[in-house]
Amino acid sequence: MGSWGHVASYYAATANRELAFAPLHGHVRADVCVIGGGYTGLSAALHLRERGYEVVLLEAERIGWGASGRNGGQVGTGQRRPQSELEQQLGTGHAKLLWDLGLEAVQLVGELIERHRIDCDVAPGILHLGWKARDEADGRREIEHLSRNYGYERMRFVPREEARALSGSEVFKAGLLDEGSLHLHPLNYALGLAAAAHDAGVRMHEGSRVLSYAGKDRVRVRTAQGEVDAAHVVLACNGYLGGLEPRVAGKIMPINNFIIATEPLDEATAASINPQNLGMQDSRFVINYWRLSRDRRLLFGGGENYSPRFPADIRSFVRRHMLEIYPQLAGTRIDYGWGGTLAITLKRMPAFGRLPHNVFYALGYSGHGIPTATLAGKLLAEAVSGTAERFDVMAKIPTPVFPGGTLLRYPGLVAGMLWYAMKDRL
Ligand SMILES: Cc1cc2nc3c(=O)[nH]c(=O)nc-3n(C[C@H](O)[C@H](O)[C@H](O)COP(=O)(O)OP(=O)(O)OC[C@H]3O[C@@H](n4cnc5c(N)ncnc54)[C@H](O)[C@@H]3O)c2cc1C
Repeated sequence: MGSWGHVASYYAATANRELAFAPLHGHVRADVCVIGGGYTGLSAALHLRERGYEVVLLEAERIGWGASGRNGGQVGTGQRRPQSELEQQLGTGHAKLLWDLGLEAVQLVGELIERHRIDCDVAPGILHLGWKARDEADGRREIEHLSRNYGYERMRFVPREEARALSGSEVFKAGLLDEGSLHLHPLNYALGLAAAAHDAGVRMHEGSRVLSYAGKDRVRVRTAQGEVDAAHVVLACNGYLGGLEPRVAGKIMPINNFIIATEPLDEATAASINPQNLGMQDSRFVINYWRLSRDRRLLFGGGENYSPRFPADIRSFVRRHMLEIYPQLAGTRIDYGWGGTLAITLKRMPAFGRLPHNVFYALGYSGHGIPTATLAGKLLAEAVSGTAERFDVMAKIPTPVFPGGTLLRYPGLVAGMLWYAMKDRL
């Protein structure tokens, strides 16, 4: 069917709903104004509406235009950082609550897909693949830790030979198979959430960039052609926040990540590189991640950059990462290449919070946003309606501002990222 206005990608070319919402014109009133039409904003809008709130959602471009319509589709359990690290940093009690929310997040994605009959190629299982000999010991320790301390039994160790058979690649030393994770078509998931929110009565406007908002008891949210007068604002702009909210902008760093889609593979080749239709990701600092599309293309994500611009030739930029893992695909045509912007935080854990007056935000999922942003929407809805206990479990995670704030954060970040990426190669 295809979807206009989105960046040219395999996802836009295979979007299965035509949703279009007119820009906001004039003055409207609502209980809540949601800014941003990705998973955070859509899930918040849907959950708020289900609680009876009048909701207006404003999206600068198209619904799902941002990272939610462009990502790798991997819906992983847990949080972005390993539990053992969270235990050390935050204490075991807090770490345990975060683990439970991480599991709930994946479950929520599955439930929403089922309840709203969202056709988005969802399938279970993510295989984590290790490049180095020490990944085997780390992997076994992680499984043991999750089993003993969290009762999580859906992750199992995959020895070298099996890792090779499941991935069709010779390069990996071992793997972990997490059967509790999912993978999916991200744009069709976003469009499905949007349809559900719209059907529930959320008013949505595309092409409606918020220029500013201000106010105490009620907040006035301004676009070029209209204004929403709302009791609460939910800020859901993630990597595309820009300068809209300076009180939050310094906590995140927008970075770009890239994906290619090959031509459709013949059945034998597809079966040789991914016989069980798993999502896969490796142990590199700049993670490579991949899965098969419904029409048997390899969708491969790898490589990022930290500048305002994308590389001129995204296909070649990502293809070299793919060929490190799958040299047998050297002759395979690349049909699509695209990029998107996501927000990371200094500690790679998300930033949730509230600002005076009546503004709630959640962002900075650091590459773990499909489950976490979906859950964020639910927790934002709980917080707006006055039950912030679970929202506060997330908001209590310290999210320091980047040294140098929004002006100087780039040079330090780039140096740090390049250092770790280089260490990976040694
Ligand atoms: C290439 C790539 C691969 C990724 N892979 C994965 C993965 O495999 N698994 C995973 O879990 N996560 C992954 N992520 C991260 C994940 O996509 C994001 O964390 C998630 O989509 C964030 O959702 P969101 O709704 O918060 O933000 P977005 O989806 O980015 O939505 C923000 C929206 O806000 C709008 N907006 C911004 N400013 C304004 C304004 N002033 N007024 C109105 N609207 C505004 C934007 O237009 C945008 O549509 C990946 C990201 C990228 C870029």
